[in-house]
Amino acid sequence: MSKSSVLKTLAFVQHNDTRFAVGDFSPVLSVFSYHELSTTPSPFLLLDHIGPGRLLPGRPPGGVHEHPHRGFETVTIVYAGELEHRDSSGGGGLIGPGDVQWMTAAHGVIHRELFSPGFAATGGPFEMVQLWVNLPAADKMNPARYQSLSATQIPCITLPDDAGQVRVIAGHWNGTHGPADTHTRMNVLDVRLAAGAQATFTTEDGDTALVYLLAGRLRLSEVDVLEEQAMAVMSAHGTEVAITAEEGSRLLVLTGAPLGEPLNGHGPFVMNTYDEILQAYEDIKAGRLIIL
Ligand code: MN
Repeated sequence: MSKSSVLKTLAFVQHNDTRFAVGDFSPVLSVFSYHELSTTPSPFLLLDHIGPGRLLPGRPPGGVHEHPHRGFETVTIVYAGELEHRDSSGGGGLIGPGDVQWMTAAHGVIHRELFSPGFAATGGPFEMVQLWVNLPAADKMNPARYQSLSATQIPCITLPDDAGQVRVIAGHWNGTHGPADTHTRMNVLDVRLAAGAQATFTTEDGDTALVYLLAGRLRLSEVDVLEEQAMAVMSAHGTEVAITAEEGSRLLVLTGAPLGEPLNGHGPFVMNTYDEILQAYEDIKAGRLIIL
């Protein structure tokens, strides 16, 4: 740690035990959502951990059938299995292990998220996460956009002594930049650490910092233990998150500048005001969320 850096400290651990089925995806752990945490995790809104599970072969492709979104972005990271995303404009595509789809719903999409026909035929293990990222008010009504980030496009930094790896999906880590184009400043890092490995993650003072542990066991800032499938919400104050893996661990490190804007969401819509939520329901009733 350099002289000017200050360690962020653990604010609290977010730990939900309840699993859901979302459409045909099961189990789904709601790691956190803005319904519970309001703007504390801003610019991040929600994180779901789907699986790990095993799909039986030979069933019709299941998943989440047609539904709308407006006002934010969905970031889908696949660890195992294969998904097919499709919307009414023909946008979307296949997302396999290591791939990331960064979908900017903005003004609106209606889409479905299903296991791919190929994966549904063979079955097998599946695991993925979906992160919702808020958009600043000025960008909420932009045209929808997809960024398909294949595994080969995402830089993967191997830590010395086989201590692990950091995949930079968005933002940067130690001078390496990720491919996702974001609307506000953020880092989205997919990290693996071997038992005993240490890594530090730098932010601006005042930034949000979240550490979600998919598997393993971590120590944060040398004192606090984080168990698997729990998320650490770090203090806004401070410029560095220091992590030590007590076991081989897989984690997401999410940091970024909070938006500092009003938040009003309902179901698949996240806007700034209640009137904008009502407008979104009016627009979907009138067919105005369909991109043609
Ligand atoms: Mn969706």
